[in-house]
Amino acid sequence: MLGLLLARAGVRVLVLEKHRDFLRDFRGDTIHPSTLELLHELGLLEAFLRLPHQQVREIRARIGATLLPVADFSHLPVRCPYIAMIPQWDFLDFLARSAARYPGFQLRMQAQVTGLIVESGRVVGVESGNERIRSDLVVGADGRHSLVRDRAGLPLVDLGAPIDVLWFRLSRQPGDPQATMGRFDRGSAAVMLNRGDYWQCAFVIGKGSLAVLHERGLEALRARIGGALGFPSERMRELASWEDLKLLTVQVNRLTQWAREGLLCIGDAAHAMSPIGGVGINLAIQDAVAAANHLHGEFRSGPPSLAVLARVQRRRDFPTRVTQRFQVLVQKRILQRVLEDDETGGPFRPPLAARLLGRFPLLRRIPARMIGMGARPEHIESPAASPPIAA
Ligand SMILES: Cc1cc2nc3c(=O)[nH]c(=O)nc-3n(C[C@H](O)[C@H](O)[C@H](O)COP(=O)(O)OP(=O)(O)OC[C@H]3O[C@@H](n4cnc5c(N)ncnc54)[C@H](O)[C@@H]3O)c2cc1C
Repeated sequence: MLGLLLARAGVRVLVLEKHRDFLRDFRGDTIHPSTLELLHELGLLEAFLRLPHQQVREIRARIGATLLPVADFSHLPVRCPYIAMIPQWDFLDFLARSAARYPGFQLRMQAQVTGLIVESGRVVGVESGNERIRSDLVVGADGRHSLVRDRAGLPLVDLGAPIDVLWFRLSRQPGDPQATMGRFDRGSAAVMLNRGDYWQCAFVIGKGSLAVLHERGLEALRARIGGALGFPSERMRELASWEDLKLLTVQVNRLTQWAREGLLCIGDAAHAMSPIGGVGINLAIQDAVAAANHLHGEFRSGPPSLAVLARVQRRRDFPTRVTQRFQVLVQKRILQRVLEDDETGGPFRPPLAARLLGRFPLLRRIPARMIGMGARPEHIESPAASPPIAA
């Protein structure tokens, strides 16, 4: 997204991606209302919505035996008051195609960054295998295991996470509910995302507890997951082996300093988010927009100064902190307690906050705003300097 915006503003950009394509395991397919609004501001919304996707207008939670609506996106003041569910690789291919229309944009696949070039304390480029690529600015947008962040020696604070998540797919069958929802009961927490012909499911487990689950065996885990999702055991046979379950080791961390001379980190590289609220993609996109807003005019007279790079952090630090604080709170106060709860206890009653959301529709606008827009939503302020070349 940052490559697209800077190329659109007339800056020469080279994006290095280590994989051959963007087609990889599930890592979030949610395009939030705020991102859809940005696509509108860029004139890309109509083309984007022509890609196959599902629209989620409301999120529900089943807590014990009670089904409650918890977030209603329909009142958000945007063109698309819903989450568009679309495979992340389709979204990234779409952005890459849109960016390729600008003459300054270049995307190189299978180009892994292996090191930084540093001269007199300033980052002046990257190494990619045997190649040395010099640039006025290096942006580390290389995700939660960022090599760029690591090599730059930027200081990271770990906020801790008491949970991990197992991700898997199950087919949807006639009679299944429509809604995308979270399901919570004594000892279990799960999420089911309606993806048309299949469910993308997340099953929350205690941090580092996968080895214990392995010891107990797949059959025992299938039974627990089936109970959490409310599916009979035959349907759980679709989870034929451990290979069908992908572990997300949840991390919540952030850099206290996102930049040094010649280098800036954004997205997960600057702040790995918990999957709670499914907001990681949204935050990464918002960072990119804020970075482009601050940086687009800075390359005319040489590299952007550290003071300008620090402004990007100042702009995005607050939304990152607020969101992570909320996620850490939910992890500790709700998920950890739910997981530690004795499965043999009495009926599981929704907590007061959830009951209030169920009772008062107006309150459901608050989580919708937090998830759908986030704190301090960005708008495109970087200009379109060169007209795109017709596709
Ligand atoms: C299982 C899972 C489920 C998730 N679910 C959701 C969800 O529902 N909603 C949501 O909003 N977020 C979700 N997330 C989080 C979301 O994926 C991230 O927050 C978001 O993708 C961050 O974007 P990013 O561009 O900063 O990093 P990434 O999306 O991680 O992109 C980094 C890119 O850099 C490339 N790269 C890495 N190292 C190098 C290198 N050395 N050289 C060149 N290229 C490199 C990678 O191949 C990758 O393409 C989920 C994450 C996981 C793992």
